[in-house]
Amino acid sequence: MDAATVRRWLDASAAVLHDQRDYLTQLDAAIGDADHGTNMDRGFASVVTKLSDTEDSTPPGRLLVTAGSTLVSTVGGASGPLWGTALRRAGKAIGDAEEFDGAALAAAFEAALDGVVELGAAHLGDKTMVDALEPAVGALREGVDGGTPTAEALAAAVAAAETGMHATVALQAKKGRASYLGERSIGHQDPGATSTVLILRALQDAVAAS
Ligand code: ADP
Ligand code: MG
Repeated sequence: MDAATVRRWLDASAAVLHDQRDYLTQLDAAIGDADHGTNMDRGFASVVTKLSDTEDSTPPGRLLVTAGSTLVSTVGGASGPLWGTALRRAGKAIGDAEEFDGAALAAAFEAALDGVVELGAAHLGDKTMVDALEPAVGALREGVDGGTPTAEALAAAVAAAETGMHATVALQAKKGRASYLGERSIGHQDPGATSTVLILRALQDAVAAS
């Protein structure tokens, strides 16, 4: 995997977040303030624009740091700083390498998750994006450590994220705007966990095409 993989991933993420913008916003309308789709669409569209201005030779880690900084500066909602931090941390973990393998990808995602948890203090079961991201990162690490090809490890990561996303329906939100609803947040799927699945599926596709 290399810079082209990262560009494909972020482009595909922007495309799917644009397609699913209204769906994500509807999910956020039920337990938040109806802006999650708009936030993610605007943020990733800015990422695509920003990356199109970078040199072809920009290494993958640098692309991720730039993408993360762009999200932090263009998205007002919680998801901007959270995904922005995630991508910045992932980029820093990859560093200046031209290419990265499955182990480096797993380490990058662990760094991303750590960044999200440091910033948002959400843990598994709090009904946030962490409920999709944390199981995905665990599955990716397990696959990579077990010698599974990266594309297959990512398929398992996506499946774990989907399970986590579905599980948010039954949970009461403990973090973010949805937590203001208390028990009324139960019965709705978390928007951030949902967009996380879309972004991870985009990564799976981008890596499969590498
Ligand atoms: P806002 O809540 O500021 O309107 P968004 O609607 O874009 O921002 O994003 C909402 C999503 O952000 C939630 O569905 C949840 O997954 C995620 N989120 C909110 N707060 C946190 C947190 N403290 N830690 C992790 N994720 C969070
Ligand atoms: Mg919102």
